[in-house]
Amino acid sequence: MNKPSETHLLAERIKKNSAAQMFTDIASRGRYATDASIYQTIPVAVCVPTCADDVTVALQVAKELEIPILPRGGGTSQCGQTTGAALVIDNSKHFRKLLHVDPVEKIAIVEPGMVLDHLNAGLKQHQLWFPVDVSTAGQATIGGMAGNNSCGSRSIAYGNMVHNVAGIDAWLANGQLASFGLMENAQGEALRLGQFVEQLARKHQSDIQTHWPKVLRRVAGYNLDIFHNQNEKPYTSDDKVNLAHLLVGSEGSLAYFKSLTLNLSPLPQHKTLGVVNFASFHKAMDSAQHIAHLGPSAIELVDRTMLDLGRQNPEFKSTIETALCDKNAPTPEAILLVEFSGENHQELLTKLKDLVTLMADLGLAGSVVEMTQAQMQKNLWEVRKAGLNIMMSLKGDGKPVSFIEDCAVPLEHLAEYTSALTDVFHKHGTRGTWYAHASVGTLHVRPILDMRKDGAHKMREIAQEAAQLVRKYKGAYSGEHGDGISRGEWIKWQFGENINQAFSQIKHAFDPDCLLNPGKIVNPPKMDEHHLMRFHPKYEVSPLKTAFDWSAWNVQNNPMTEEISAPGTGLDPANGFAKAVDMCNNNGHCRKFDAGTMCPSYRVTRDEQHVTRGRANTLRLALSNQLEGNHLASEVVKEALDLCVGCKGCKRECPTGVDMAKMKIEFLSHYKKEHGLSLRDRLIAYLPRYAPIIAKTPGLAKLVNLRNQIPLIAKCMEWLIGVSAKRTLPQWSSQTIWDQPNYQFGYDDYIVESLPAQRMVVLLADTFNGYFEPDNLSAAADVLKAAGYWVYIPRKEKGQYCCGRTFLSSGLVDEAKIHAKELLDLLSSYAKADIDIVGLEPSCILSLRDEYLMMGLGEQAELVAKHSFTFEEFIIKEAAKVEPPKSPHVNKFQFKATDQEILVHGHCHQKAFEVASPVIEVLKMIPGANPKMIESSCCGMAGSFGYEVEHEKISMEMAELTLLPSIRKAPDAIIVADGTSCRHQIDDGASRKALHVAKVLQMQLK
Ligand SMILES: Cc1cc2nc3c(=O)[nH]c(=O)nc-3n(C[C@H](O)[C@H](O)[C@H](O)COP(=O)(O)OP(=O)(O)OC[C@H]3O[C@@H](n4cnc5c(N)ncnc54)[C@H](O)[C@@H]3O)c2cc1C
Ligand code: SF4
Ligand code: SF4
Repeated sequence: MNKPSETHLLAERIKKNSAAQMFTDIASRGRYATDASIYQTIPVAVCVPTCADDVTVALQVAKELEIPILPRGGGTSQCGQTTGAALVIDNSKHFRKLLHVDPVEKIAIVEPGMVLDHLNAGLKQHQLWFPVDVSTAGQATIGGMAGNNSCGSRSIAYGNMVHNVAGIDAWLANGQLASFGLMENAQGEALRLGQFVEQLARKHQSDIQTHWPKVLRRVAGYNLDIFHNQNEKPYTSDDKVNLAHLLVGSEGSLAYFKSLTLNLSPLPQHKTLGVVNFASFHKAMDSAQHIAHLGPSAIELVDRTMLDLGRQNPEFKSTIETALCDKNAPTPEAILLVEFSGENHQELLTKLKDLVTLMADLGLAGSVVEMTQAQMQKNLWEVRKAGLNIMMSLKGDGKPVSFIEDCAVPLEHLAEYTSALTDVFHKHGTRGTWYAHASVGTLHVRPILDMRKDGAHKMREIAQEAAQLVRKYKGAYSGEHGDGISRGEWIKWQFGENINQAFSQIKHAFDPDCLLNPGKIVNPPKMDEHHLMRFHPKYEVSPLKTAFDWSAWNVQNNPMTEEISAPGTGLDPANGFAKAVDMCNNNGHCRKFDAGTMCPSYRVTRDEQHVTRGRANTLRLALSNQLEGNHLASEVVKEALDLCVGCKGCKRECPTGVDMAKMKIEFLSHYKKEHGLSLRDRLIAYLPRYAPIIAKTPGLAKLVNLRNQIPLIAKCMEWLIGVSAKRTLPQWSSQTIWDQPNYQFGYDDYIVESLPAQRMVVLLADTFNGYFEPDNLSAAADVLKAAGYWVYIPRKEKGQYCCGRTFLSSGLVDEAKIHAKELLDLLSSYAKADIDIVGLEPSCILSLRDEYLMMGLGEQAELVAKHSFTFEEFIIKEAAKVEPPKSPHVNKFQFKATDQEILVHGHCHQKAFEVASPVIEVLKMIPGANPKMIESSCCGMAGSFGYEVEHEKISMEMAELTLLPSIRKAPDAIIVADGTSCRHQIDDGASRKALHVAKVLQMQLK
């Protein structure tokens, strides 16, 4: 353990001599204490270099102070190799450039922090790709992949990382740079080290021959076999020795990669996919060896548990069902995804037919779903890649634990091995879900263990029995995810004493002072040491009275059946909040940059602090008293949550359902109770209460509107309350919606005999549309009335009904509850009469389906939630209804044609609830319209976030990621955005007036 003075000195000296960011505070170090494994060790300090020169300085200073170094990419390792009491150096923020591409030689040179997906996006223009397609492609870095000798789903065709790396330039432990490539060209230190390892390999040749697993998927230990290949696939195409391969799989313990030269492959032009459905798991396993003879590029397994879990998830259900021969029949026990890829489409179709024939020959006629369409295949692969995360969504303390999850056995033994290991699990009172790489005998399986109870003990027992099976079937104990802590102690078992000694000598030759990721591969700790674990039997959570009802997470599970106990029975002192936070398993999926929403603040900052994972870790550490006295309502937690815009992107896209938007509200409720509300908080939260006063007091609205016209007032407001002067504020309308007589009906009035309840609708006027843009509400009412609906806009004697959104965003959950109860009292009578409630502002209407269900509001909330819809959702639902033959309302929604370009920006909450597509669908009801969804994350305004002076800049940066550039590229398009704050952001950033979809439909009414 390093003394604080040394840590301080380390940070000061690195900062003084480089541009690197240094973090020594406990919260930052805590966020880098874990990877995607069960382990946790608080690092000495964290360094985020801006370039290679910064790394040189960091390595030099750490060496002088004898502080160990731990290089880090995405931190998605599963065995604990990216945890350690060291100076953690995070390459992923800046040290991630594509340095060179040679499309002719098919070579790319990259910095280690580059993410695989980003590399492949850059290579697409050359029709090339880097084919080590790990499931974590959106967040895994090339440095980390090389560190782990990672392998993708298509390793049967392309091999592992070691087969695809051509050279590595690396810093050695003494700070010197060395070039590792072909042995015949080696010079200086690289040559000296290469020759040293070569003589070791020669000395141990017979041991290597005897003990080395002869399978493609062996990633344990150092690659001493590069001089005498033991792998199913040669490491190089011409049998030459490449010294870079020594570093691949070294888990940061031999050298620090500066740049990597990669061999690229042509992007396959065509792919076909056969999905084989099996009624027996054993049969699936037994069939893999036969299917492999057809030359597929992948054979991937998904078992029944995962299929069932996936079918329960709205994001995956429909895709999974495309893979089933009969979606109404019982779920198959397993499916195998068999992919063929290449240049000639016809050949691939033939191979697909061969698969059908083969399965018939094996007694399974009619068991193959043939997928030739690229998008369908892509969707299914995404579900397969999410496999582990689907499994990890299990609530309760028992979690699927990774420690034997990638043992590789020869294909002919796969069926026997899987059934023997299943028996082992049962013996220990647990079970595992099987999935992944059947093509290469590496099936992933994680038994469910409770590390807070007897998990560590069971883990060792299961590991021992699994190891015996691996030996029996001549497999490799570590076939994909590396050694780290969970497998380090098995290296000696796998390779024998002599080779283990040789590994120690290699380590000593490269790193005599043992400063590079110590304890990994050589001298590893025991896999079950409690002090290295994230959760252990002494793990404690502080009691907490929560604002929301988190009881759905406060449960336990049965490891054999995966059944969940009743809500509230999980014994969480934080009433379920801690267990909801613990759902984050650190897989880093929130670091992706794809078409989804999650996580906008990370997309802009690339900081671990500002990603969902960093936030969940901060909350976890605070709730379990690991932040040196900083409790939940402390400033360090506030800082971590500060840039969370509450977009709910994570609610939908985090595979384990971490809902940080709700967690932020929970946090704010504690923080505000302890620290009080600022004037700005009050102005934002209480808007629904004072809005009627402004609206009703003659001349006041006009006066307030002057703020946008007189810069001095804006500047004063910025100075006094922190609302950015760069922003225009929403304008108070001269007439609110409640002043417009057309829509004023009370509950009693609606009983009009000629109209059935289905023809009535409550249009919920929210504060924003009601006071600032009442035209949107009248447009919605016009569209609904034109289609024959009787529209009721609720109005109160004093003020207006409010959903409580502004209070929730400010953490005032109790105040929000007052409004929620009042609103539910009103709306439940309509809901009981089967009358739907429609809202225009997504964040308001959807809170009735989301936060309301966690506020202890009982059955009323459940009932109203079932009847609450966004405007466009309601139209789509109604338009799909079959009218009775004599109904006067056939073709109820009719619009004039348009040929104008229409672009839609989906509000984050629409996307989180999967209700963004109805906006497109209603627009398609306009003849000639061809609306397109802008592929954008959060607009960045996010309620009041973008108006706040300290957030204005980052808010704009979020908008500039894709939203504003897409709008600027379409100067004549109609821009549709249902969120009030989205429309303001678009106006401020692109000077374009976006419209609520209701306005567009009103414009096109016949
Ligand atoms: C849900 C899930 C699915 C996964 N699927 C796969 C899969 O399909 N295939 C697979 O192989 N793995 C898989 N993994 C494991 C992991 O994602 C991969 O090993 C990945 O390549 C690690 O990349 P990273 O950037 O996160 O590495 P990190 O965890 O950051 O680092 C990995 C190792 O490399 C070392 N390292 C990092 N940078 C350097 C450097 N510059 N110099 C020297 N050493 C360095 C680190 O010290 C560490 O020991 C999965 C993990 C999860 C959570
Ligand atoms: S927040 Fe979700 S996506 Fe991010 S690391 Fe945790 S579990 Fe994965
Ligand atoms: S709510 Fe949005 S900003 Fe906040 S953590 Fe989730 S994805 Fe990120």
